Amino acid sequence: MAEDCIFCQIVDGEIPARVVYEDADVLAFLDANPLAPGHTLVIPKDHHERLGDVPPESGEMMFAALHYLTPIVEDVVDADGSNVAFNNGEAAGQEVPHVHGHIIPRFDDDGGRPVHAVAGERPDLADDELDDIADSIAEGAGEE
Ligand code: 5GP
Ligand code: ZN
Repeated sequence: MAEDCIFCQIVDGEIPARVVYEDADVLAFLDANPLAPGHTLVIPKDHHERLGDVPPESGEMMFAALHYLTPIVEDVVDADGSNVAFNNGEAAGQEVPHVHGHIIPRFDDDGGRPVHAVAGERPDLADDELDDIADSIAEGAGEE
C-alpha cells in the first residue's frame, strides 16, 4: 500500500466508497464525481501507478473484472453503450496515481464524445513512418 494514495485507502477501508465488486486482486467502486450514472472504477488492490507497472496476473484479473462488469453496469443504468478507458499517466490526464479503468456508461444523444476526441491534433504520418512504428511495436511485442 502507498500511504498517501486515496485508492489504497479505499482498498483498506480507510476511505468509504460504494464498492460494487471485489475479489482477491481487484476492487471496483463508483466514481465519486461521476461523468454518468454508473460511472465505475476498477483497480488492482496492489498499488501500481500505470498499466505497464502492473504484473501480468494482476492485469489479467483487472481486465477480467472490466469485461465482467461492463455489461452489468450498462444494464443497471439502461445505457446504450459505454467507454471503457484508462488515463494512463499524467500526460493522458491521470490524476490518481493508482492505475484504474473507467467504465463510463453512454446514452444516445448524451452530448459526449468518443475516445477519438481525447488526444490533441491528429499527426500527419507518412506510410513509411507508420511502417516503422508498426515494426517497432511488433518487435517490442516479440513478433518476428
Ligand atoms: P483519473 O483522472 O485519475 O483517470 O480519474 C480519477 C477518478 O477518480 C476521477 O474520475 C475522480 O472523480 C475519481 N476519484 C477521485 N477521488 C476519489 C475518491 O476519493 N473516491 C472515489 N470513489 N472516486 C474518486
Ligand atoms: Zn494506491
